[in-house]
Amino acid sequence: MHYINGLWVESDRSFAVTNPANGEVLGSVADGGAAEAEAAVKAAYDAFAAWSGMTAYQRSEILYRSWTLMSERAEDLANLMTAEQGKPLKAARNEVKYAADFLLWYAEEAKRVYGETIPAPRADQRFMVMREPVGVCAAITPWNYPISMLTRKIGPALAAGCTMVLKPAEQTPLCAKAMFEVFHDAGVPAGVVNMVNASDPVPVGKVLLEDPRVRKLTFTGSTEVGKLLAAQAAPTMKRVSMELGGHAPFIVFDDADPVHAAKGASLVKFLNTGQACISPNRIYVQRSIAEPFIATLTERVAKMKAGLGTETGVSIGPLVDEPSLAKVDRQVQDAVAHGATVCTGGTRLTEDGLGDGLFYAPTVLSGVTADMLIHSEETFGPVAPVIVFDDEADILEKANDTAYGLAAYLYTRDISRAWRIAEGLRFGIIGINDINPTAAAAPFGGVKESGIGREGGHVGLDEYLDTKLVGWSV
Ligand code: ADP
Repeated sequence: MHYINGLWVESDRSFAVTNPANGEVLGSVADGGAAEAEAAVKAAYDAFAAWSGMTAYQRSEILYRSWTLMSERAEDLANLMTAEQGKPLKAARNEVKYAADFLLWYAEEAKRVYGETIPAPRADQRFMVMREPVGVCAAITPWNYPISMLTRKIGPALAAGCTMVLKPAEQTPLCAKAMFEVFHDAGVPAGVVNMVNASDPVPVGKVLLEDPRVRKLTFTGSTEVGKLLAAQAAPTMKRVSMELGGHAPFIVFDDADPVHAAKGASLVKFLNTGQACISPNRIYVQRSIAEPFIATLTERVAKMKAGLGTETGVSIGPLVDEPSLAKVDRQVQDAVAHGATVCTGGTRLTEDGLGDGLFYAPTVLSGVTADMLIHSEETFGPVAPVIVFDDEADILEKANDTAYGLAAYLYTRDISRAWRIAEGLRFGIIGINDINPTAAAAPFGGVKESGIGREGGHVGLDEYLDTKLVGWSV
């Protein structure tokens, strides 16, 4: 179903939603196109004046109610996410909590949209700067974090006074529907949030991007699609926020504890089965500690259990679709052909009832070099490629040698080195001995081809606000 102007709307056609862990059909969803997208934009446009005209306190209250309801439904949302997206239940619970945090944070931030006064150059002149909502926003979101990617956009948009049309990922529309039930039940007025589902995103995307009433696009997904959408947004000069791909370096210096660092690498690399844009894609370890690091990493990864996310002890879920699985396998085969060693994993998993799902064995590769695909392509799967390095002098150059610039991690106990490297890394998010540098209160986003703009924190609200200068003569 779509959600347009406060109503659940069907289409003539529908598409099936499946569980990637076993291929089971979970349900079907209305398959929309240009007509539904146009109706949703109209609803969002018509609702804008009343929504932006409410007080910040009123909007805050509705966001707060959404947070409360979402928290009450957390367990159901987590179970649905595990069935639809495949991540283990524990990870789904974490995501629901993280996602809810954005509603609470922006319920609070809604009341803090401050302007400023500026000393004017003339004695009879006064300057006042006001912040205003940008208007109707289009949001296009991915399947890998099917709930937090929604609240990270809807939270600040509603706080700022914007209205929105969301096109969720075609793989995870049921999570989006469950969230729209939350917004509906929390009393978000009709037309303020709208959702259009589509098995083919192109016609819906075209309407959202060409309509001059839509003033902003916020997108999370691949760099490839992000570039296409940014180009489509240009003729009507829409603002864009882009959270795109990454190719995170994870650098372990020889003064770090190799066992502790390997533990961190195993946790962050295999988070969401490697299907995260901040997932490490190049694990650099300094030569003198490479052996214990690789041994610990291999030992931990070999123990990881793949399977249905509802089973106890499972930490590895399925990949999202066949092409993703094929890409992971291609990168591994290519690395092996170029001389890499498979320390553990390296194959698709089909035994023990996993044959109907899209599982790849959690894999560690050592001896990875720059001529391998995995060294430059984003993997988005459960493969940890390890590269041994010698000098701090050239590690920065190596780490920065990518078109991406989202997250980077480093392990060291030398505080000067930590500053030096953190300052030199051309990435939007740096973890120093820390594998989870994210929170609703913190700005998330990349530089270079990893994106434009930030989500989360007080700067996340700026993305939904225009600046208006009022100058007058007194
Ligand atoms: P992923 O690799 O995460 O699947 P994509 O960039 O392909 O990333 O998809 C992210 C979101 O972008 C999804 O909601 C998808 O439907 C949408 N999308 C993909 N291609 C287009 C397009 N040409 N126009 C509009 N939306 C698109």
